[in-house]
Amino acid sequence: MHIVFKQLFISGAIGMAFISGASAAPLNVVTSFSIIDDFARQVGGDRVTVKSIVPANGDAHAYEPKPADVIALKRADLVLVNGLQFDTFMQRLAKSSETKAPVVEVTKGIEPLKNAEDEHGHGGEPAHDDHDHDHGHEHDHGEYDPHAWQSVPNAMIYVKNIADALCKVDSAGCESYKANASAYTQKLQALHESVKAAFSALPKDKRTLITSHDAFGYLGAAYGLTLLAPEGTSSATEATAADVAAIIRQIREDKGSAVFMENISNPALIKQIAAEGNVAVGGKLYSDALSGPDAPASTYLKMMQYNADTITKAILKK
Ligand SMILES: [Zn+2]
Repeated sequence: MHIVFKQLFISGAIGMAFISGASAAPLNVVTSFSIIDDFARQVGGDRVTVKSIVPANGDAHAYEPKPADVIALKRADLVLVNGLQFDTFMQRLAKSSETKAPVVEVTKGIEPLKNAEDEHGHGGEPAHDDHDHDHGHEHDHGEYDPHAWQSVPNAMIYVKNIADALCKVDSAGCESYKANASAYTQKLQALHESVKAAFSALPKDKRTLITSHDAFGYLGAAYGLTLLAPEGTSSATEATAADVAAIIRQIREDKGSAVFMENISNPALIKQIAAEGNVAVGGKLYSDALSGPDAPASTYLKMMQYNADTITKAILKK
């Protein structure tokens, strides 16, 4: 009698633990960097917990994975990466962690811009793949510019891909993910209109911007701006003296140019360029990462609006 009671009690406890675990445990989503992290939170809502490997204001191009990252990927139910060779360390982490989670590239379906690095600099090198040995350090960029999130219409594709990926690993939550994605996409649409309106106020001959690395090509393509950078599309690419001289020449010739620091980069080079080009630094743009919670770019919506406002203010006050 006593034994039977004990067995009932144990199996009941296990049953209850199973039921509450199945309904309460959120899905464990790991993302490579803060911008995808924000999208995943927006779409996942309270059914997910999200962790970003590269922190706010961090530089994914130069990220050195830590032992804790291997554990995070091992425990993940879903891994979201940018792709386009932006965050290749994530593929290496996924392999070494032996994670069972699918690794999904959220830029799938985006029309990528060709990597312009070989066309504008490095001492007039021809546009073929000979720069790796010329610079004596490792490049981590590919054929395409990876910074696709800098166009708001592209962000809508990120969001759709994230909703699809979440639906695949958690079909019970699919309706909720789709509803969240749809509501957030409406906010992105409003952001797109607002950013477009801000840039349309700029005179056609004052739309050349200089940043330390070439992170804003998609912004330029979407909103009609010209972007120049001494460092190419990876911040891991060192600017040569010839690159810097060419940019300074450009600023002196083009009175419409404005110069910006980036949140992920050392500002020294940009300050030097601005000083030698005799222009003021127009402020700080958020390129490859969100800010922390107390700064003005703690979400993607805030980041894009802040960048647009900073750019237009700097150019219009000249
Ligand atoms: Zn970058």
